[in-house]
Amino acid sequence: MTMKALLRIKPHHFLDIIRDFGAGVHHKPHPYGHAVHEAARLLRENPRTLLELTSGADEICQPCRFLKHGRCTDTTTTPGRKVRKGSWNRLIDCRIFKRLGLREGDRIPAVDFCRLAEQRLGDLFTLYREADPRKTALREKNLRKGIEQYLKRDAVENR
Ligand code: SF4
Repeated sequence: MTMKALLRIKPHHFLDIIRDFGAGVHHKPHPYGHAVHEAARLLRENPRTLLELTSGADEICQPCRFLKHGRCTDTTTTPGRKVRKGSWNRLIDCRIFKRLGLREGDRIPAVDFCRLAEQRLGDLFTLYREADPRKTALREKNLRKGIEQYLKRDAVENR
């Protein structure tokens, strides 16, 4: 798929990519076939990429083998029991929207989303309250680092 300067993306997908940057992950194609690696490349190349926020299927989901008729058919055990991934994602994305004061369909440059996250995302242990706190601690550490690096890089490039 071809990624454009406008990237339709779920808020948690964006934050997961920034967390991965903080962890030093270099994204590669995934067996699911989704486009996380392509979105990550775009975001790495251009921190001013315009995000169009959605809690539905985004551009990352489009080539994924679990996307059927516009819906995610995968499951997850992140909340401590097996649930539909689509419902879990929607719950987390709704919480992120609320904390950042954003809404479905809003458009915002990637770096500005990061700045908002730095200021308003708050405690991840309540954002991910159903999840294993040990995993959340690691998420928190890498996400904070990823946000800091992303903001610093944009500041240097746009001096
Ligand atoms: S369809 Fe589901 S499993 Fe596939 S990328 Fe989207 S959220 Fe992830």
